[in-house]
Amino acid sequence: MNAERLQMPTWYGLKATIELSPNRMLHRAGIGRWLIPHPPVFNWMLRAQLDETAYRRLSVLHELGHFQVLPAIILYLLSGTAVLTILRTTTVQAVIWLLGIFPLWELLAEMYVRWKERSSYRQIFRAASSWRKTLFWGGNAAAVLIQLGCAADTG
Ligand SMILES: [Zn+2]
Repeated sequence: MNAERLQMPTWYGLKATIELSPNRMLHRAGIGRWLIPHPPVFNWMLRAQLDETAYRRLSVLHELGHFQVLPAIILYLLSGTAVLTILRTTTVQAVIWLLGIFPLWELLAEMYVRWKERSSYRQIFRAASSWRKTLFWGGNAAAVLIQLGCAADTG
């Protein structure tokens, strides 16, 4: 079975390419021929217990979500860099803050899935174990807050 490759339009005009391997081992996402392979860590964390149809539909939406919220991430990156420059944070603090972009990006991408799926999202996840949901939502939110705190600490 070959990996399924999908082309999906984003709201700002770029076409996202999303490819899920059939064995849930590797996802590839990008623009055109430029695809970034990555293990589906968060898709696995949230969706390991789902059946194949739901797993694939929500995983594709999650990958697309990364593209849909990309302008917000870039805005956050630019405004945050400006604030950190004014605060004169150290390089280490800036790097810690920069790494916080990734958990934030995960949260926003999954919020996009929730928004697209609306009530069926809750239905699908009622059966999923709560530690997985807590780990995803709580873990990523905590990572963002800790990293923001580190960057803003000028004492
Ligand atoms: Zn993700």
